[in-house]
Amino acid sequence: MIRFGPSGNSQIFYDEGNKSSLEAPKWCAEHGLTAYEYSFGRMFNMSHESAKKLGEEAEKNGVLVSVHAPYYINLANPSDEAFQKSIGYILTSLSYLVDFKGNQCVFHPGSCGQETRNVAFERALSRMDKLLEAVYLAGYGNLYICPETMGKSQQLGSVKEIVELCKFDKCLIPTLDFGHINAVTGGTLKTADDYRKILDYVYNELGEFKAKNLHIHFSKIEYTSKGEVKHLTLDDTVYGPEFEPLAVVLKEMALEPTIISESKEKMMEDAIKLKNIYEFVGGK
Ligand SMILES: [Zn+2]
Repeated sequence: MIRFGPSGNSQIFYDEGNKSSLEAPKWCAEHGLTAYEYSFGRMFNMSHESAKKLGEEAEKNGVLVSVHAPYYINLANPSDEAFQKSIGYILTSLSYLVDFKGNQCVFHPGSCGQETRNVAFERALSRMDKLLEAVYLAGYGNLYICPETMGKSQQLGSVKEIVELCKFDKCLIPTLDFGHINAVTGGTLKTADDYRKILDYVYNELGEFKAKNLHIHFSKIEYTSKGEVKHLTLDDTVYGPEFEPLAVVLKEMALEPTIISESKEKMMEDAIKLKNIYEFVGGK
């Protein structure tokens, strides 16, 4: 089934008297949402004991929790020691994902640094074997690791690069961040056709299962010629992209992704809006 949910908690969640993320699954369920993303972007700031409680709350409320791994992961870092640390961050993220009873872990593949894009990407590709070996050895081969399409031109993670990375193993599924894709390509996502091209490409390259079970991030994002500047809310009318044409294509292709709202400060409200748009647009 298709799922909608927020990345983290909006101010409204706290204004209504909620104190911690342990209460987020109940809030989501009460508002018709069935997904929730917990971000360890800057640090691992939760005990495993709390994480298990969150997992129980999620299960009780029919909410599937995903994890966002730390932002400082970089599979293209020339230093092998730094790469080993990146593996560690992914394994730790997966250990929390098990506590949460979820199955999708998002991560940013890395950046070009001082090198050409080609050199950096080839290094990231060449390290996939080691990363996967560590994942399987740790017993996490039943989870999904979801490299994300990125929004800045110096970051690795074009649609094509993410698809190439995901060819390595069955446990790799793309995170398509359509705000990022729109930002880094200077606003090319406008019509249903623009979205269809990307989803058809993923379907043809990676097959039906991965296309049907995509992880999706959606938010409007301000950008310049270098790509992403900052996340906006769905109220923005300048930068886009719009969700309606994507909703049409998701229905048309019968895809059932988890869609996470990363709107600035209003991720909970906007996750509900995305769900309402999806239910309202044409199709079955
Ligand atoms: Zn991300």
